[in-house]
Amino acid sequence: MVYQRFKLPQAYCPKCSRKVELLFSEEKDEAGRFYICFKCQTIGQFGVGELPKDDYAGFSVKRKEEIKQLVEEISDKYIYKAKGSQLRLEEKSNTYTRRWLSLYEYEKAFGETLGFETIDFREDKTRCKWCAQALEGRRTSFCSDRCSRNYGKATFFKRGISTLPYRIASRDRFYCRVTGEDLAVTNRLGVRIPASNQQMEIHHLVFVADGGSDHETNLLTVSKQVHKDYHSGVDYAVQAIEQIKQVQLQMYREKMYVK
Ligand SMILES: [Zn+2]
Ligand SMILES: [Zn+2]
Ligand SMILES: [Zn+2]
Repeated sequence: MVYQRFKLPQAYCPKCSRKVELLFSEEKDEAGRFYICFKCQTIGQFGVGELPKDDYAGFSVKRKEEIKQLVEEISDKYIYKAKGSQLRLEEKSNTYTRRWLSLYEYEKAFGETLGFETIDFREDKTRCKWCAQALEGRRTSFCSDRCSRNYGKATFFKRGISTLPYRIASRDRFYCRVTGEDLAVTNRLGVRIPASNQQMEIHHLVFVADGGSDHETNLLTVSKQVHKDYHSGVDYAVQAIEQIKQVQLQMYREKMYVK
């Protein structure tokens, strides 16, 4: 039987999550049971997984030999490099999506709750969180309902950030852990508010594609620029982040990988 490679946007390697190419035979009624992964450099079978290199069930001897050659000749430029990929297999739908764990999933996965719940940037707790005026009477957060509303509006929707990364940013007080760049919003009254200024991103020290977890010890608040620089291999960013990663791995290796 002769098989042809065929690109299908929705097919992913069960092992590394990279997009794979399907292998179709020339027989009309045969579905694409086999895939070729250019990262793992393997042939696999959906529902079965990676096939041993000398056992591509269903292939003729001649074709097996051809495919083996093909796999060995995959050039470096096709090897998967987007290491930050957050694709996860959803068990229910058996598809890949890109998303963060919910707090509930976090507790289930790590047997602990994620802290960093409320962040208060104020150095002086006797001043309003929104306008920084002195608080009167029994007030502890806002000088007025108006300030409370404004603050809620600025932080409530968290500007499109999921709860988990928001809490990681709160832990890091909305500063880039590499450059110290301020990634929080400063309101029109000049007061710093715990909401992203759109330059904030969260990086996985151990990449999701390499089995990295969403545990807080594996996550780092960085600026968009630093994040981009790191993933494209710019020296300063690679050095700084790798150093943090090594320190974290020494202490928290277990939690930084998905079990
Ligand atoms: Zn793969
Ligand atoms: Zn106020
Ligand atoms: Zn990253």
